[in-house]
Amino acid sequence: MKIETLAVHAGHTIDSATGAVSAPIHLSTTFERDVEGSYSRGFMYTRNNNPNREALERGVSAIEGGEAAAAFGTGTAAAMALFQALSPGDHVLAHVDAYYGTSRLLRSLFLRWGLEADFVDMSNLDDVKKSMRPKTKLAWMETPSNPLLKIVDLAAVTKIVREVGAVSVCDNTWAPILQRPFDLGADLIVHSTTKYFGGHCDVAGGIVVAKADNEFFKRVRSIQYEGGAVPSPFDCWLILRGMRTLPWRMRAHSENATKVASALAQHRQVERVHYPGLRSHPGHEIAAKQMSMFGGMLSFEAKGDRKAAMSVAAKTKIFIRATSLGGVESLIEHRASIEGSGTTSPEGLLRLSIGLENADDLIEDLDQALK
Ligand SMILES: *Cc1c(COP(=O)(O)O)cnc(C)c1O
Repeated sequence: MKIETLAVHAGHTIDSATGAVSAPIHLSTTFERDVEGSYSRGFMYTRNNNPNREALERGVSAIEGGEAAAAFGTGTAAAMALFQALSPGDHVLAHVDAYYGTSRLLRSLFLRWGLEADFVDMSNLDDVKKSMRPKTKLAWMETPSNPLLKIVDLAAVTKIVREVGAVSVCDNTWAPILQRPFDLGADLIVHSTTKYFGGHCDVAGGIVVAKADNEFFKRVRSIQYEGGAVPSPFDCWLILRGMRTLPWRMRAHSENATKVASALAQHRQVERVHYPGLRSHPGHEIAAKQMSMFGGMLSFEAKGDRKAAMSVAAKTKIFIRATSLGGVESLIEHRASIEGSGTTSPEGLLRLSIGLENADDLIEDLDQALK
C-alpha cells in the first residue's frame, strides 16, 4: 500500500461491538479476566497496555515500516526511555545540533547516572568516525536540525555506527513521511508526536519505533510500562487521528515553506535563510537525496541582529509568537531567547513553523513585519 492509504487505515479496526467506524476511546483502567484467570483479550491494566495505545503503536510502526513501537506521554519521555535502556559507562554520541531538550537531558541528567556523552557535528563524517569509541552504544541523529536546519547524511552516519556495533537512533520529528530512516540504516526512530503527527497543537506525545523487535527494544518496552510515562487513551486517539492526514499535511507544509523560503531569500531586510530546499543551503544535495520534500520548518536571520528579529516577531499578524511546531497555524519564534545560555542559535534568528494557511498571506505578513 502507498503511504496515504496506510496513513488512513493503519491501526484501524471497525469496533466489533457497535460497528463504529471511528474507534471508541477506552477509558477503562482495568480489564476483565477470563473465568480461568487468563486475559485472552490481550489487555490487563492500562499502564501495561490499552486498545488506543496499541492502535497508535501499530499505526505509527506501519507508517515508518518498523516491527514494533512504544508510545510515551511526550517526545522527551521517549528519548528518556532510550537513554535509560543503556547501562552506566555506556557512551552516547549525539548530533551537536540535537533538540535542545535532548542534549540537556544527556548533559544534566544522564551524566550523573554514569552515561558518557559527546556532541559532534554529524554533517562532518570524519568527526563522527573520530568520536566513536569502543564503549559507544548509541548514536543520536537528527535531521533537519533545530534551529539551523543542518542536514545529516543518514546513510553515511548509520554505516559508521553499524561498524562499531552501536544502535543508531534518528529523531524524525521534523520530517515524518518525507524521510525514511529505516531505509537509510537507522535501527530506531523517535518522534515527538506533539508536532506533526498530532498536527493541531492540541496533544502531547512521543514514540519509539523499532526496525526489529529485538532485545534492546524489549528493554525500551519494559521501561515504558514499568516506568509508567505512558500517554492517556484520549491522547493516543488524537495522535492517531492526526496521522490519518499526515502525508497530505506534510506535502502542504513543504509546498508552503518552499514558497516562503524563496520569498525571504530575495528580501532586502533578510541576511540569511536556512531551508534545505534552497540550492544555497549547504545540506541541499544530501537533503534532496534522502527527503522526498523539504518539510515545513525554516529559519532566517533578519538584518540588524537581535533587535531587528524581535521587532519582526512583534509585528506579525498571522504568524503567532509561540514555541513548538507542526500545527496548522504558522508560528514564529526567537529561538535564542527561549533556549537561553548554551544556545547554538544566532541572536538574529527567527524560526518559522509554516502552517497550512495560504502561502501568499504568510509572505505578505512577513513582508509587512520586515518593513
Ligand atoms: C519537540 C521536540 C522534541 C521533544 O518532544 P516533547 O513532546 O516536547 O517532549 C524532541 N525532538 C524534536 C526534534 C522536537 O522538535
